[in-house]
Amino acid sequence: MPPLSWTPHRPSDRLLLNMKRNPAIKAVIAALLLVAAYAGTAAAMMGIEDEKKLGEQIVAQIERQAVLVRDPEVVDYVASIGNRLLKNVRVKFFGYHFYVIKDDALNAFALPGGHIFVHTGLIEAIDSENELACVLAHEIAHVQGRHLARRMERMKRVNIVTMSAAILGLFLGKGEAGSAIFASSAALGASLSLKYSREDEEEADRRALEWICAAGYNPLGLVATLKKMQRYRWLGSDEIPGYLLTHPGTSERITYIEDMFRRRPCNKGKWTGKVEDEALDRIKVKIRVLSGDPAVLARKYRKRAKEHPDDIIAMYGLASSLLAAKNYKEAISAYQAIVARRPKNVLYKVDLAKALVAYGRYREALALLAPVRGKLGSAGKFVLARAMLESGKPGEALALLKKIEETWPDKAGLYFLLGRCYAAQERPGTAHYYFYKHYSLMGKMDAARYHKAMAVRHLPPGSKLLKDLEKEEDKGGKKGKGNGRRQG
Ligand code: ZN
Repeated sequence: MPPLSWTPHRPSDRLLLNMKRNPAIKAVIAALLLVAAYAGTAAAMMGIEDEKKLGEQIVAQIERQAVLVRDPEVVDYVASIGNRLLKNVRVKFFGYHFYVIKDDALNAFALPGGHIFVHTGLIEAIDSENELACVLAHEIAHVQGRHLARRMERMKRVNIVTMSAAILGLFLGKGEAGSAIFASSAALGASLSLKYSREDEEEADRRALEWICAAGYNPLGLVATLKKMQRYRWLGSDEIPGYLLTHPGTSERITYIEDMFRRRPCNKGKWTGKVEDEALDRIKVKIRVLSGDPAVLARKYRKRAKEHPDDIIAMYGLASSLLAAKNYKEAISAYQAIVARRPKNVLYKVDLAKALVAYGRYREALALLAPVRGKLGSAGKFVLARAMLESGKPGEALALLKKIEETWPDKAGLYFLLGRCYAAQERPGTAHYYFYKHYSLMGKMDAARYHKAMAVRHLPPGSKLLKDLEKEEDKGGKKGKGNGRRQG
């Protein structure tokens, strides 16, 4: 038997039927469908390449708005822990980059495209490398889960500038670094819709736990750090740490991380609960010396070293603040005393070599580092390169610098040294090219223009560097038009 008559039984169906009969409404529906289709494409998952580009743009903004720690050892320290975790991540969408922001907030965050930031306040607050590893693993997991990219799909009408402001505001918060960010309420609104969800958190923790274990760390470090943040919240001012704002559900996280760990303890008994944390203490000293008054710090560390003659970190604090105060002679003998106590630790040798180079004792620095060159990180390579250049070996210096060019955090300093190496090799075109890059990064535009003109004069026609210079001109000419990326 056929149906009696088809009667719309839901109001929406009836409405639709009425609408379909009306030609004017028909047109409106067609238009709406078009908009929906367009919104659909705009809302599609952001592609990997787009995510990379967006990440780079936001990094450039952070570099303008926040103070980044450029000390390569500090950055290397964080990056080496991050890379140890990343070795256990099977499919990586991005090449990861690690940064340290000079800011007291207890915070860490990940930008789209694999850029991971840690605030110095967090480094000061943690008690072990393990804790930092756990925080980094969680941030890597947000990137790998593409959580932020997914949230961005929902921000269809928001242009790139607002989106960047929103992300900056979200992660830099109200601190010094973030004060001017929420200029527009659009950015504030967008920022609120970008926060991670509790599901994101749980997914990130689950992934992170796997990598933490595989890298030989202990996931309970994550619990320890979360508890610290909670304590900070209650003890500190009424300001909630930015981390807790963007990563919700702290108490639940503590409970289920402990639970997951209880059910699947990792490392098969390898975990001893102890790691060598002298490295972390060294990094903390470096951070303090970067932001404090070196004379005051030197007094403080000298007192501590006197009271505890076995305290290497007190000696290290003294040596580092003496160097920062440009008291080279005393700094060198303080570092020498440390190297004598820790003859196998290459990092202390690098510090001593840096002080020697600063004081013009290049050959001693060369003799100290050349035998351990295979063990040097990028900070060590940079110091060794400088010692080589000053000892009349620009070719060897160049070979070392080329190895660290990609990842070296202080690009201005690197370009200057590269320029000097090429000048020493009597390659004026390339030398001027790097001096140009150095001065334009330093914002010294008169000097930059001079070196650019000289580079153009000396570089052979058709050379890659010359093309680079021309390309930059193009970019400069188009500036101001390119910011409003279409968001649908
Ligand atoms: Zn999170």
